[in-house]
Order: sequence, then C-alpha cells, then structure tokens
Amino acid sequence: METATATATATEEYRPEAAGGSARGHGPSLRNHSRKPPAASRRVARGLPPVVLCCLFLPAVASTQTFTHADTLRGSNTPQRAWWDAAFYDLHVKVNPTDSSIAGYNAITYRILKPAPRREMQIDLQMPLVVDSIVQDGLELSARRDGNAFFVTLIAPQRVGTKKSIAIYYHGKPTTAVRAPWDGGFVWARDSLGRRWVVTANEGLGASVWWPNKDYLGDEPDSQRIAITVPDSLLDVSNGRLRSTTPNSDGSVTYEWFVTNPINNYDVAVNSGHYAHYTDVFEGENGKLTLDFYPLDYHLDTAKKQFQQVTPMLQCFETWFGPYPWYNDGYKLVETPHLGMEHQSAVAYGNQYKNGYLGHDRSATGRGMEWDFIIIHESAHEWWGNNITMKDQADMWIHESFATYAEGLYTECQQGKKAGQEYTIGQRKLIRNDKPIIAAYGVNAEGSGDMYDKGGNMLLTIRQLVDDDARWRGILRGLNKTFWHQTVTTKQIEDYISRGAGTNLG
Ligand SMILES: [Zn+2]
Repeated sequence: METATATATATEEYRPEAAGGSARGHGPSLRNHSRKPPAASRRVARGLPPVVLCCLFLPAVASTQTFTHADTLRGSNTPQRAWWDAAFYDLHVKVNPTDSSIAGYNAITYRILKPAPRREMQIDLQMPLVVDSIVQDGLELSARRDGNAFFVTLIAPQRVGTKKSIAIYYHGKPTTAVRAPWDGGFVWARDSLGRRWVVTANEGLGASVWWPNKDYLGDEPDSQRIAITVPDSLLDVSNGRLRSTTPNSDGSVTYEWFVTNPINNYDVAVNSGHYAHYTDVFEGENGKLTLDFYPLDYHLDTAKKQFQQVTPMLQCFETWFGPYPWYNDGYKLVETPHLGMEHQSAVAYGNQYKNGYLGHDRSATGRGMEWDFIIIHESAHEWWGNNITMKDQADMWIHESFATYAEGLYTECQQGKKAGQEYTIGQRKLIRNDKPIIAAYGVNAEGSGDMYDKGGNMLLTIRQLVDDDARWRGILRGLNKTFWHQTVTTKQIEDYISRGAGTNLG
C-alpha cells in the first residue's frame, strides 16, 4: 500500500479553534493541574518477532522486567477507580492535522458503587497531553497528576447508588504511533495521492494516549458518543452508528458516532480520510445486519471484490460462535494506513487487498492464501476480545488464542475440516515457547506472543479431547452467550470450557 509518511508537509488549510471549544462551552480558564513530574515509566524492548506479525502479534515483553508504580496505576483496579462504574463516555475531540494536535473533552457519567476513598477519582490521560479543566456540577475541581493518572478531588457528595457526571477538558499533541498497530497513538499519514489520512490505534498502550477515561479493561461504559471534528475534506469513521454530520464555520466538520453497547476503551477509534462508502446487508441469526464499507476512494473497485469475504466470514463465525454481538451498531470495515485492528463494529483494515497475511500464509500450508487474514482475524475479535473482553491485559490470550483458532475454523468452513486442521497445525512452527502466555496481573503486562499460535493449537487440541463437534460448537457458542458483552478472567473461561468438556482442563 502506498502510505506516505507522517512528516509530509501540510498542504491543507485548517484553522483550529480554541482548545476545548465546543457546543458545551466551559467556564474555567485553561489551567494545567500537573503538579508533579511524571513517574518514570518503564521502557520495554519491543523487538519485532521473527516473522513480522500483525496486530496483534504484539512483541512480548522481557520476562525479567520489573514493574513500576506507574504500571500499577495503569493496570490495576485502584481504590480511586473501583468505587465508580463508567456508564457513559461523551467524547468530543477536534483533530488538527496541520500541527498534529487535538483538543476536546470527555464527559463521564458514572454510577457510584461505594464511598470514594479520600474523595478521589482516578482519570487517566497520558503525557504529553494537558488537562485544561475538570468540571462537576459547574465547579472546577483540582487534581494532582501522578504520571499518566490524575487524581481528582471531588467536592459534591457522591451518594452510593446514584449517578453523576464529570467533564475533563484537555488538549495537546498526543503520542504519534511510529509502528502502528504494534505501538500506539495517532497515525498522521497520507494516502498515495498525498491527502491527509489520520487514524488511531492504541491496543496495549491504552485509550488514554488520546482521550481521558478510566483506562482499565475491567470497566466498559454501557454506551458511548464519539464526536470527531476534522477538516471538511475528510470523512471520519468511528465506532457504532453515524448520528449526525455538522459543518462548522471554520472549515471543519463534526461526525457524531454513537455506540449503543459496552465497548472496550482501546477499540474507540478515529479513522479520517478520503473514503468511499458502500453498503450491504447480511441476513444473520439475529436478523438484518448492516454492513458498511469504507475503502479509500481510489480503492473502491478493488474493495468491492476483496470485501466480498465479509459475508461468508459472518456466516461461518455465527455458526461457530453465535450471533454477531453488535447488530444495533452494525459491522463496518474501514481502510487504514496500518495493518489492522479489531476496533469494535468498525474493524480497521490495512492488508493491501491481498489474501493471506500481507500476501503470505502464516501456516505455510497454502490454506491461508484462500482468504484475507485481516478480514478474518480482526473480525473474529468481535466475538473474542470485544464481546468477551479480558479484565486484565495479562489475559490477552482470551482475545488472541480464539481469534487465531478462528482462522482455522474459517479455513474449515471454506475448505473442509481437514484443511482447517492443517492450517492450525501449520502454525505450530511459529510457537516459541519462550515464556508464559499469561503475564503478571495488575500492571498492564502482556504475556508471550505464543498466545496466538500456541493458544490456537491448544484450542484445537481441546477439540480433539472433546471429540464431539456439536458439543465443541456448543462450548464456543456458550462462551459467547454466557459472557455476552462482559469482561472476564482466565479462570472464568477455563472453568466454562472444563465444565463443557466434562474434564478438568485447568
Ligand atoms: Zn488479534
């Protein structure tokens, strides 16, 4: 694909408005609440794996690594997080490609589960972004910054059992992703015609790299608005459904997207570019599912051929896993300058319209050349990762083992059972056996990259033990039904499979 670099010279006229400027104007003047230098964050050597893998073959962290206070604040359910439950994120962000900056706010509605320790609330927003103000009930609140975490001192009573809202206004130049989707942040790219193409990808690093939230996987909002303002030459495709498109007087346009389901924070995405748009409908288990495709305009004809793989993918995965989890938010496939990511209801696609993984077969059996790796693997995450989400990054195998196994199942749907097994077995040579698949808990750590190919093979092995395809299919569908729209632990998944198999597989 012809992605240009992010360092190209700006050619578009764009006039950013004042930071935080929006329909919900806020009174307090800009003020940086940062009072402490950021805690030193750990630096993790992230070399490329032997085969350049995708998205989500995130290079593993070193087993000797030590964890910091900052890691605990990022990766655990701290006391300042545990007392409140995110109900609604109302996110408004203006994207300014000319200077790679953003500005906006997130108004968080939350349920009060228990008294707030020290009347403090943890909100995450990563350096170098700046908080301008934090407002509740019309009053500006103070906060102490501890690295990438803000501890807000609340004034208003926080009565258990009620809901309240708090708004965080912010601006700055977010971290730029250098190797998206393997690292994270904003991608300030250009398409092959030199036009702006601005997207986000932030699995692992976390959504707080570009917007303030409770950056803890165990708490998903029940729903979310994502209102993205971009220069009016661009079309933004985010998650859920487009509710409105509003031109602004400064030459920008606001795309208001709305997700009516729980969504994991890292899946919330900006995809702004010169997109074409066409639609289709899938007749699935829960009725009509709208399909919306957003290739770059000059890839429209190519996309109309390659994206035909979506319908048989959905048929296969609904058969094995149960209904697609987001009928009311639709299914979208959006071309991106990076390889791909499982952004919920808006899957990011950057596989260059080739079959296989960028044109090669990870299994080396030839079976993987009959389908497009990114369409199949990333869409499988709608069930494994998005419908069922890990509570802790350490349990990422729940996302990747099943999504990798799903590649073999898709091969089976398309080419027969023997072919599906060949594909998964072919992935065994990619297993490294370097260190545990499950990492340390509570510090946002990831385990071995073996969570992909070894994990997929583990599931194939369990299928042989079960030795009853209808029962095995019942386990896979049952997992999605039992943990529908939930966050889970490894133990929950292990116990469920053991019960279904009638054998202790712990
Ligand atoms: Zn994946």
